[in-house]
Amino acid sequence: MKILVANLGSTSLKWRLFEFTNGVERMLHKGGFERVSDYPRAIEDCLGQLKAAGAITQESDLAAVGFKTVLARGVNGCVRLDDPVVQAMEAFNAIAPAHNPPYVSGIRLFAQRVPEVPLVGLFETAFYQWIPEAATRYGVPDAWHQAGVRRWGYHGASHKFIAERSAELLGREDVAERARRLYQDGGTTPVREPALRVISCHLGGSSSITGIRNGVAVGNSLGLSPQSGLPHNNRVGDLDAMAVPFLLRSQGLSLEEIEKQLCREGGLKGVSGVSNDIRDIQTAADQGHPRARLALDFFVHETRRWIGAYLAQLNGADALVFTAGIGENRAETRAAICAELDQLGVVLDPERNAATRAQEAVISPPGAKVTVMVIPTNEELVVAREVKRFLEHPPA
Ligand code: ADP
Repeated sequence: MKILVANLGSTSLKWRLFEFTNGVERMLHKGGFERVSDYPRAIEDCLGQLKAAGAITQESDLAAVGFKTVLARGVNGCVRLDDPVVQAMEAFNAIAPAHNPPYVSGIRLFAQRVPEVPLVGLFETAFYQWIPEAATRYGVPDAWHQAGVRRWGYHGASHKFIAERSAELLGREDVAERARRLYQDGGTTPVREPALRVISCHLGGSSSITGIRNGVAVGNSLGLSPQSGLPHNNRVGDLDAMAVPFLLRSQGLSLEEIEKQLCREGGLKGVSGVSNDIRDIQTAADQGHPRARLALDFFVHETRRWIGAYLAQLNGADALVFTAGIGENRAETRAAICAELDQLGVVLDPERNAATRAQEAVISPPGAKVTVMVIPTNEELVVAREVKRFLEHPPA
């Protein structure tokens, strides 16, 4: 069974093609385009590359195209992306203006181009379907909550991968199995005592932290929108809601201008005034740029704040995992995040940390109370696996 997973951005198209045969998973092809101006052309070229590489001979070789969809009104989990679902995504475009519209238009283009191939989405909110109700709430009137103003949580595919893989690496096959089966049985696969408590830090272009107990999320730093929680590359992160009426009334900014600045001029870019890429910010900080230094400190501060939240929620942690572009590659950021947490059991082995880049590794010393790990994430694989399960066990 061949499943194409397409990652849609407003000006990018990236893909990975997976094949599942007799219990063996293989990635057959990966590729992508940046700075796309003609999206139908990019889809055509993607299919062309798959054929040229011999990965497929015709479109109907694809059992499905899978998408890491963001959120939709009244829809969650892994679902067929038919018209009502795409409309439900569109209904929440304003919550995820940088993420949802490219998916809505891209999925419609795929539907036109490969009408014979099922399109299936795994929503980024799916991993948080079982968080405690209190963790979904904002202090708003109930009608707002019912309308969708709640904590949703995102990066679900990434954190689910970490839930499975960290349990495997920690020798907790029971918990790994519960995490694998989560979307089948809602986390009811039995596990033994003691509970496995993992804090997963996805630090990249967008960043979030999740607490995971026995393979099931207890919450995520991303709330209503993928603009919340930690500061992101150019998106704001958490902000007191009263900032918006204040700016509207006192600074003469329009709602559109405020929204644009929150989604494009905020986060690390806004604080540093330098760049949305942490590597450029680091270079500027090393050259003595004070706001670049501040942006790095701010990112570390906010990350520690959310780690603290889940240390409390989970009553400690067995593992702290770093993943995504920053988490996998930047030893200095990991060191700053883990500094002076020894009373909470978090200690790094400086040499192991410095030597670890984009590979699975334990970076805490042997016998440490909290095992600190780097695990490269694989969101596309999680999507492909769930799409496969969806095709094999379609909902009644
Ligand atoms: P996205 O969330 O958009 O998928 P990534 O996970 O690639 O993005 O994370 C992007 C961030 O990670 C950027 O700030 C970038 O500087 C940083 N990053 C990515 N790769 C590396 C690397 N090899 N070394 C250092 N930093 C990196």
